[in-house]
Amino acid sequence: MAKKITYLDHNASAPLLPDAKRAIIDALELVGNPSSIHYCGRKLSKIIALAQDKIAKISGAKRDEVVFTSSATESINQAIKGAVKALNIDKIIICAGEHKAALKAAENSGVGLEKFSLLNNGQIDLLQFKQILGKIDESEETALICVHEVNNETGTIQPIREIEKIIAPTRHYLFVDAVQAFAKMELNFSSRFVDMMAISAHKIGGPVGVGALLMKSHCDEVRLIEGGGQQKNRRGGTLPAALIAGFGEAAIEFPKKYNEQLLKELIEKIETGLRKLSDNLVVFAKNSERMGNIINFAIPGLKAEIAMMGLDLEGVQLSSGSACSSGKVAHSHVLRAMGVSLQLASESLRVSLGWNSTIEDVEKFLSAFAKVLKTRKFAKMVKN
Ligand code: PLP
Repeated sequence: MAKKITYLDHNASAPLLPDAKRAIIDALELVGNPSSIHYCGRKLSKIIALAQDKIAKISGAKRDEVVFTSSATESINQAIKGAVKALNIDKIIICAGEHKAALKAAENSGVGLEKFSLLNNGQIDLLQFKQILGKIDESEETALICVHEVNNETGTIQPIREIEKIIAPTRHYLFVDAVQAFAKMELNFSSRFVDMMAISAHKIGGPVGVGALLMKSHCDEVRLIEGGGQQKNRRGGTLPAALIAGFGEAAIEFPKKYNEQLLKELIEKIETGLRKLSDNLVVFAKNSERMGNIINFAIPGLKAEIAMMGLDLEGVQLSSGSACSSGKVAHSHVLRAMGVSLQLASESLRVSLGWNSTIEDVEKFLSAFAKVLKTRKFAKMVKN
């Protein structure tokens, strides 16, 4: 019998929405290349245009501003590396709490880099940002500013409108990673002082393997992948109509199913339940404006890997702030940028809920967590 899974990792990837799945399957039945001018091609290009309309509607963009990519990672690389080339960027000013895709693309973009930090509460350090920008203004350089709308690890909603006000009267460009905000809050791309914005399908119940870069027309030369002229030369490659159809459907269906208020209440129940289990609970970014679907926490002394293994055995899936790759444990750079100690960062756990989360998920999580804590205490007793 298949194990019952309690999935609490929506910020990593949300389960596919049934409507998105149907749209993908329907489009997969069709044959052809959307760039072909014959009937089959036209049918596929119509599917793509419809999906583009849906994504444009939800992000407040114009249809033509939506450029499809393979992922937000690609969108971010296009925005950063492409802008350096096409917009004569001298310097990148980037938030230390960006996704690794942005941090690495910026490091490898070939221009100088200035990083600003996060405050202890998880919010962008606006003062430090202004100081850096001030220096660049004196040197008359043109900068690309890279920030995120909502943090994927803590759920902090960043004061991007403040940054827009600062940048609007200058010659600088602004790129926003809106992956964790798209379809969860109003983005109003067209009317804001944002030049480019990255979004992804699989964070909102769409398929993995498709994302988009929202681009204002003055950024049309910002490219990464050259090809056969698709998408007005802004991103080469035959478009995956089925994945795009699923993305479009998810953009429309997700906001109907994502209940921020309910998720906030479920997260509050989790926090209350965890406090009953431990007096030492630490909740990160507690004093910032946060998305309602997420809690990032630690219980000092309980290693994240140990907790995750125990929870996994109980069928509960969540994320830890420390990721193990190539045998090395990497601590959350987001928590570190907030001034969290290495020790505590290695104990952080993230629960992120989404469109199909229920009170049963919360109850299962809390009872599994209680078991993990008991087992750990028991293990300690045996050792001593
Ligand atoms: N930016 C943020 C804030 C994310 O949370 C993620 C995914 O974890 C990405 C970018 C990368 O998205 P994708 O998986 O589509 O490459």
